[in-house]
Amino acid sequence: MESSWLGSVWEMAVKKQMARRELGRLAGKKGMTDGVFLEDLQSLGMILLASMPKPAKKDNSRSNYATVVTGYWPYDGNGNDKPLLFAVMKLADTNINVKSQLYQEGVRLKLINAQDQLVFIDDVSTNLHAEMAIVNYLCTKEGIQKQNLCGLLEIYCSGKGVCLDCSGWMTKHGIIHAPLSGAPSPTGWKNPLTFALYKASGENLVYTKGLSELSHFNRAYGGPYQGNVKL
Ligand SMILES: [Zn+2]
Repeated sequence: MESSWLGSVWEMAVKKQMARRELGRLAGKKGMTDGVFLEDLQSLGMILLASMPKPAKKDNSRSNYATVVTGYWPYDGNGNDKPLLFAVMKLADTNINVKSQLYQEGVRLKLINAQDQLVFIDDVSTNLHAEMAIVNYLCTKEGIQKQNLCGLLEIYCSGKGVCLDCSGWMTKHGIIHAPLSGAPSPTGWKNPLTFALYKASGENLVYTKGLSELSHFNRAYGGPYQGNVKL
């Protein structure tokens, strides 16, 4: 066995991500669905899905699958009431009609009461999943600490459902989310705060930073849960 594989910080990073993925799997059994706004977020998601252009026939590439995620957050960085309603659409043009439709529906559902409480995110970097784009916005633009997201942030994923990788991260941080796809991310997953990238190949993960591959998790060594990685 190559000794370089064991004990490095990069292997630990992969191990942590595998543990989060496992948390996602467990969340699939329990279901992180005890939120209060998930139903409202689901109906907002339907408005967004209906607004998306249909993919061309015969084009089955994954990039044409719709990703529509809605989220609700109640406070500003100082704990004052300032609800934010999130809508993340990766592929569609977020035109003005969809925005005003969503705003009206958000007001009708009593989620928000002002235009600037609707946050549209339509420019998401590759492998930063829409759920994680909301987390990134709250932590970097609103100054919310990640440990304060617990029990407050609610996220609904219309279309594909939440992948195991996002579900694991959100379960770890107490973020209410639904529904679950039950599958790991097919291409990769980016940490919302460090932007570390985990490229996926089935159950395997490659941890990268910039252009360098820092570690490749190889299941033949026994897997992260078999105790082979030294602390
Ligand atoms: Zn995801």
